[in-house]
Amino acid sequence: MSYQVNEKGYYGDFGGAYIPEMLYPNVEELRSRYLEIMNEPSFKEEFNQLLRDYVGRPSPLYFAKRLSEKHNTRVYLKREDLNHTGAHKINNTIGQILVAKKLGKDRIIAETGAGQHGVATATVCALMGIQCIVYMGEIDIKRQAPNVARMKMLGAEVIPAKSGSKTLKDATNEAIRDWINNPVDTHYIIGSAIGPHPYPDMVTRFQSIISEEIRSQLHEKEGRENPDYVVACIGGGSNAAGTYYHFLDNPDVGIIAVEAAGKGVNSGESAATSQLGKEGIIHGCKTLLMQTPDGQITEPYSISAGLDYPGVGPIHAHLYKSGRGEFYSVTDDDAMKAGLELSKLEGIIPAIESSHALAVFNDKKFKPEDIVVISLSGRGDKDLDTYINHFKL
Ligand SMILES: *Cc1c(COP(=O)(O)O)cnc(C)c1O
Repeated sequence: MSYQVNEKGYYGDFGGAYIPEMLYPNVEELRSRYLEIMNEPSFKEEFNQLLRDYVGRPSPLYFAKRLSEKHNTRVYLKREDLNHTGAHKINNTIGQILVAKKLGKDRIIAETGAGQHGVATATVCALMGIQCIVYMGEIDIKRQAPNVARMKMLGAEVIPAKSGSKTLKDATNEAIRDWINNPVDTHYIIGSAIGPHPYPDMVTRFQSIISEEIRSQLHEKEGRENPDYVVACIGGGSNAAGTYYHFLDNPDVGIIAVEAAGKGVNSGESAATSQLGKEGIIHGCKTLLMQTPDGQITEPYSISAGLDYPGVGPIHAHLYKSGRGEFYSVTDDDAMKAGLELSKLEGIIPAIESSHALAVFNDKKFKPEDIVVISLSGRGDKDLDTYINHFKL
């Protein structure tokens, strides 16, 4: 079985490009050029130089001694939280802005829910001096004021989406409408391993720097390239796809995905997409998504804004259905506890998204000799208010 995308843009039954006719030229231009561009030596050189000097890569692979003792196994943390802007998202936006430049685009659009992807996009647009427009639901603009301020400081224009539920999916619709109207000069930066082909594959390849580094760092520390398990949280699934990428075809490496159960998988307030989702089309691809019996997308819920997404990238739908990945879901409460535990044991305050991955020990028992690599996708500064309210700090 293959876990890579095929020529038609599918991972098993999932993926493809389900887009309005009028978007076809834009997506086709990208599809026909992305691999050739990414393989150009000048592209690779600039991408790697920016990852090193601007993002601060390689991010450390840190052996978490006290956390390991607590859970009686060997835990390494991949420190994406130490990247510039505080999470893994910048790996992808750096890659896509360079693709946009190679395609001759001088205008960038994006949509954002919690604002994290909007900030990562505004950051690289400032870096390159390129115009940036971010669509964001009107309700999300109110909920995420600090990220809106960051985007504005970085020179981006934030346009409110006022239709529907005034959240992420409405912002996505606005971004797609914009792209249809501006096919020649504009590139659309999607922020996770989702969207019409080639986006899931392109985003996964940019994030695959994570597993590339894990291999060489683990070789240096343990004399072997392959851990026993890699663990990551899944919103749309970009940090997870990057963490798994170089291990997908190696059955000795266990792949563990952790989703947000919110207030409980069956509470009606959850984002546990693989367990609750059915096949459907979202954001231009066929995947698992949370929907009503007549196919309307259900509003997801999670305490962590970055996991609050009703779908999952097609690669993960395939890992779930094929059984290659083990999927768990973690409630708000358990994630928050795991975040506090890491803070106290290791002096690292994680993003609440990453805290979900850290809660894997509640569900999965590892052997003492196992090497478990967990993607610490982001830092907790942005979540301080949520930690304060939850723990009455
Ligand atoms: C956005 C975000 C996520 C979820 O996005 P993926 O595409 O699933 O990786 C996870 N962690 C952090 C810190 C984020 O900002």
